[in-house]
Amino acid sequence: MKAEIIAVGTELLLGQIVNTNAQFLSQKLAGLGVDVYFQTVVGDNSERLRQAIEIGRSRADLLVFTGGLGPTQDDLTKDVLADYLKRKLIIHEPSMAQIEEMFSSRGIHMALSNRRQALMIEGGDPLENTTGLAVGNGLSVDGTLYLLLPGPPREMKPMMDGAGEVWLRSVLGETKPLYSRILKFAGIGESNLEAKLLDLIDGQVDPTIAPYAKEGEVSIRVSTKAGTPDEAGQKIDKTLEKIKERVGEHLYAQQDIPIEEEVVHLLRASRRKLASAESCSGGLLAELITNVPGSSGEYVGGVVTYTNIMKHHLLSIPMTQLEGEGTPGAISDSTAALMAERVRELADADFGVSLTGVAGPSESEGKPVGLVYVGIAERGKKAVVHTLNLSGGRSMIRLRAVKVALYRLWLALQGR
Ligand code: ATP
Ligand code: MG
Repeated sequence: MKAEIIAVGTELLLGQIVNTNAQFLSQKLAGLGVDVYFQTVVGDNSERLRQAIEIGRSRADLLVFTGGLGPTQDDLTKDVLADYLKRKLIIHEPSMAQIEEMFSSRGIHMALSNRRQALMIEGGDPLENTTGLAVGNGLSVDGTLYLLLPGPPREMKPMMDGAGEVWLRSVLGETKPLYSRILKFAGIGESNLEAKLLDLIDGQVDPTIAPYAKEGEVSIRVSTKAGTPDEAGQKIDKTLEKIKERVGEHLYAQQDIPIEEEVVHLLRASRRKLASAESCSGGLLAELITNVPGSSGEYVGGVVTYTNIMKHHLLSIPMTQLEGEGTPGAISDSTAALMAERVRELADADFGVSLTGVAGPSESEGKPVGLVYVGIAERGKKAVVHTLNLSGGRSMIRLRAVKVALYRLWLALQGR
């Protein structure tokens, strides 16, 4: 099964909006075992949309459309596809009733054009829209499958996860459902992780292994088709063992949660508390930790000591450590150690974590962009400092540094 995603909308071509629907749909289809070979973007123009359909039909078995199901004149997807397939547009009565009901309940006059949202292509299956008005459509014509979804992500996603997926599974003749498990990794980059698993990824048949990377996080989805959840679990466990052999020390969760959540869990389970002192990350670690609901029980608080004077005043780090010829400077392993130790003492916490480094774009203290020191101080022990050489732009370096700091904390919490 080869699929093509066709996103319809002139706004996409003008760069006014980002084609996030294509990303969502590609991931979704991969999860359903459908290979996406092409992603196309076409404007709200009948002739060019027709061309896109024609090209799509010649190279894919499934065309997934998103956008252009709305009531206005530039919403053409159904009209153009119906015309192309020489089929009529018919009214889907339940959707029509729902639209009329929506307008009358709000006491507003319904424009004639809103009726267009209840239209579907003859011979197709309606796909319920639980968050909007336009009905989706699934149809199979001459060996090609067409799936029509709305443009707004808040309508498209629930439709694809609901009626769209049900329809797709039914036409794909899927008997066994697909089960997947997300594995989350920290302290390792995506390319490094992939390199270590390359032969597993290449040689995979069942279960399949798909790496993903988003905002400073790396994950792998292991998927398999199975008759029961138990059977799937066993198959996934076998693959998991092979993955663990190679990169087990980086695996922190078998579900889609961020590392900070796992850190908070570990702190809570061992009744320990954390404090932070941040320089180059400007409070990002505090932001991520406090994003975890209930983290106030584990996170005492932190300071952003961005300048030397603040490092000196708030953390009592001697100026002779921070400034002047021949001193270690603010960006140094000894300063990171002091920051972690002092904030831990100040907060009477079990762990103190610190970050100091160069986020860029230009170097500082003659030290290169991407150099970051992470200090971890544990009660009763000397602080341990990790030296990072990170790549990326300013915000990426900050995020990566914080994620590594969280990973180091996660290890330290397990005595590793
Ligand atoms: P509507 O009923 O809102 O008109 P529609 O199905 O006709 O829905 P469009 O008119 O193509 O969809 O797009 C409506 C809005 O949905 C766009 O303004 C944009 O905000 C969002 N949108 C459309 N396509 C995409 C896409 N591919 N990725 C992300 N957002 C999109
Ligand atoms: Mg529209």
